[in-house]
Amino acid sequence: MKYISTRGTAPVLSFEEAMLTGLARDGGLYVPETIPQMSVADMRALAGLSYEDVAFRVMRPFVGDTFTDAEFKACITRAYAGFGHKTRAPLVQIGPDHFLMELFHGPTLAFKDFAMQLIGQMFEVALKRSGKRVTIVGATSGDTGSAAIEAFRGLDAVDVFILYPHGRVSEVQRRQMTTPIESNVHAIAMDGDFDDCQARLKDMFNDFEFRDGVQLAGVNSINWARVLAQVVYYFTSAIALGAPDRKISFTVPTGNFGDIFAGFIAKQMGLPIERLVIATNQNDILHRCIATSAYTKTGVKPSISPSMDIEVSSNFERALFFAHDKDGAAIKGLMDDLSQTGGFTISENAMGALKAHYDSGMVTEAGTSAMIKTALADTGEVLCPHTAIAVAVAEAEAQAHSAPMISLATAHPAKFPDAVEAATGTRPALPERMADLFEREERVTRAPNDLAALQSLIRERIVA
Ligand SMILES: *Cc1c(COP(=O)(O)O)cnc(C)c1O
Repeated sequence: MKYISTRGTAPVLSFEEAMLTGLARDGGLYVPETIPQMSVADMRALAGLSYEDVAFRVMRPFVGDTFTDAEFKACITRAYAGFGHKTRAPLVQIGPDHFLMELFHGPTLAFKDFAMQLIGQMFEVALKRSGKRVTIVGATSGDTGSAAIEAFRGLDAVDVFILYPHGRVSEVQRRQMTTPIESNVHAIAMDGDFDDCQARLKDMFNDFEFRDGVQLAGVNSINWARVLAQVVYYFTSAIALGAPDRKISFTVPTGNFGDIFAGFIAKQMGLPIERLVIATNQNDILHRCIATSAYTKTGVKPSISPSMDIEVSSNFERALFFAHDKDGAAIKGLMDDLSQTGGFTISENAMGALKAHYDSGMVTEAGTSAMIKTALADTGEVLCPHTAIAVAVAEAEAQAHSAPMISLATAHPAKFPDAVEAATGTRPALPERMADLFEREERVTRAPNDLAALQSLIRERIVA
């Protein structure tokens, strides 16, 4: 299995290289050269299998010869062993033809654990074999950093540094990053906002002497291995509801487009997905783009669903690549427009290709709160704000869809207690296995918004 860049000029890589590299050297994102197919018989044979067994069958063809079957099975088993639900991604019915897929039973209570836990195991096996050691540096607005720390804590071949904006993450998110005791975990509270953290991270990747010196590796949402891990639960959930002998639709709370793009890959593999519905908060650049063909930045407004407060939706580039018949030069043109003018316009042809798969909807702040309240009253389910956005968009779209709808529940409500309490009057409790989070000791390094200071901090820590 070979991986090519969405901008057409970076070297073709193996799965292992694409996973360890992250971003392509031409600025693009890696995608598989061809998409493996699942036949109807292959899919029928998934019914009744464990999450781990489905994961192995769905992902195996993408991995190529990076792992033996036994190695890859062991990675999958270890990745999901710490989840708090034996089916990993359970479905809950919330309406006649509407289901929630709970993706928040992992160690940090958000769907990012599905990919990050697996990536941690795969990095460890690949690095041990090659005798290499890497330094993972990530920037986070909250969920990605805690998921990465949880996935890499205690692994031998990796140091993990997470930059988060000091004072701007929720207390649960901060404590998930600052309370792990392993010495390879380094939480850094940086002065500035999330964009500053992201900018310093980019600076580090662009400083080739530093990058090579510390063996820098990235695990942000553009890493192909993260998308791949998310393909699995589209299969497990659709099969549980009768696929491949019935079509299923999905509504996905969307920011960086990684989660919903995994659904597109599942569909390309053969899973009969009728519609993929993009649900956004007030930062609705993707919804406006689907409606008007124009992708135009207007400035991010902080919301009660902070994990979707994004304007440069990085994985959307992968969707555009497929909508342009894999024309890397066309994608490079659009991305150049984006960086030079703050936007781009999509051709009629490519819009037609996008609209063949995707619908979209937007929910305001008030609408999000109202949905959390209504869902609790009508179904007894406590939704996190991101999930509430999916459920509201799915309900608004209901008439347009004949297939059963699965809305993705991307985080546990206790991860966003203020928004949930404001909507329902009740503060959601943490699951029992992490009830002592507020008693654990915190360990964090404060750092200025300064590249040289961050680099020397990282260099010192990895030799220690
Ligand atoms: C990251 C995140 C999202 C957005 O997912 P993308 O893959 O970036 O589209 C939605 N909800 C929650 C809770 C998240 O952490």
